[in-house]
Amino acid sequence: MLTSFLKALTNLFAKPQTIDYPVTLIEKDKDYRGLIEYGEEECIYCLKCEKACPPGAILFVPVENPPKNEKNKSGLKYHYNPHLCIYCHECVRACPKPDEALWQSNKKPPIGIKDDRVNDSWFELERLKRD
Ligand code: SF4
Ligand code: SF4
Repeated sequence: MLTSFLKALTNLFAKPQTIDYPVTLIEKDKDYRGLIEYGEEECIYCLKCEKACPPGAILFVPVENPPKNEKNKSGLKYHYNPHLCIYCHECVRACPKPDEALWQSNKKPPIGIKDDRVNDSWFELERLKRD
């Protein structure tokens, strides 16, 4: 009885174990896997990231005017779909130039899809890739 009372008294003056979310945001872990970022200048267009991606969230699609980059003889342009990405890190693991051409940032992934055109434009990119 006395122990419980003392415990209750201690808890009364202890710091809360919870945080005031979403006013106070949780600090991200140093190994937090957020949005995939791409360094076009360093990319060698080997497409290893595209092949390694389980849900197909990275696409290199042919374009008429590819990015002006000496290493890009492929005529392809990089596209990434953060709504499809499962944040598994496999693309970065497959990339021969991790941290330069491709890396996983600690930026928060988007929550939900507010605009249906996101899907439509991605389907269009997939179609261009197939054709
Ligand atoms: S983190 Fe995974 S799902 Fe996201 S783009 Fe890379 S390989 Fe694809
Ligand atoms: S694996 Fe890296 S170097 Fe190769 S295409 Fe992807 S981002 Fe570029």
